[in-house]
Amino acid sequence: MNTTNPFKQQGEWYRGNTHSHSTESDGQLSVSDRFSAYRDAGYDFLVLTDHRKVNDVEPYSTSDFLAISGSEVHPSNPYGGGTYHFVAINIHEPVNCAKMHPNAVLENIKEQGGEAVLCHPYWCGHTISDYLPLRNYFAVEVYNDTCMGIGKGFSEQAWDDLLDRGGPVLGIASDDAHGTEHDCFHGWINVKAEELTVDNIMESLRTGAFYSTLGPEIIDLDLTDNVVSVKCSEARSICFKSDCTRGKYIQAPEGELLTEASYSVPESAKYVRVEITDTVGKKAWSNPFFF
Ligand SMILES: [Zn+2]
Ligand SMILES: [Zn+2]
Repeated sequence: MNTTNPFKQQGEWYRGNTHSHSTESDGQLSVSDRFSAYRDAGYDFLVLTDHRKVNDVEPYSTSDFLAISGSEVHPSNPYGGGTYHFVAINIHEPVNCAKMHPNAVLENIKEQGGEAVLCHPYWCGHTISDYLPLRNYFAVEVYNDTCMGIGKGFSEQAWDDLLDRGGPVLGIASDDAHGTEHDCFHGWINVKAEELTVDNIMESLRTGAFYSTLGPEIIDLDLTDNVVSVKCSEARSICFKSDCTRGKYIQAPEGELLTEASYSVPESAKYVRVEITDTVGKKAWSNPFFF
């Protein structure tokens, strides 16, 4: 996986949610209302991912808002855990998962020009044994807002397990919006892209030119001479996470807040990623630098 540091790349920032549902599956808003809600909330793009189907979203793109088609697909799981939930971004034909091996489903998504995300691992109860045999996915949901309904929205450990034991994989925060308020506008990605087109957004997703957030802003991210440094909105803590036992957690002194930090990459580290936490516990996650 060739990844890009979005903070060193030309382009504009675009805010988007990669996981949402309409009344075409188990969501509470029509396709049209789902797109309007996100456009009105200031988003630049939304991927509609109704369960087991693909809707025509073309009528909902405007000059400053991009409607991207997709689906949430559910192949059965031969590796011990429950049925998979994969979000397929930018596919145009439904994938008929019945009797398909999960890797055949992931391959089909790729063949359609799409990209697959492993959804809400914590909520699914999925572990490394469910994920290690899989190929052809590019990201895992580090945060899924609707899963906070049972307190299982954060899947940081699943992401790190994959980074430690599998290979390079990116992290995505999403809403998985079903309702009208409680699971909307809380987790999103900021994508750096040349223009607001499906091709540009997909290229930026594939190359990791984005970060995930529940509110905190990452202002700059840099890797120079094996030192990772970050600048961000006011944070209570900044954490650098690397393989297994490596990393660094920096907490602001009592009465103060952090807006920058840095970390020397350990010898033979496979990756380093950054997590920001603000004063009310909201987080932002960079994608990893891979070594
Ligand atoms: Zn799901
Ligand atoms: Zn969903």
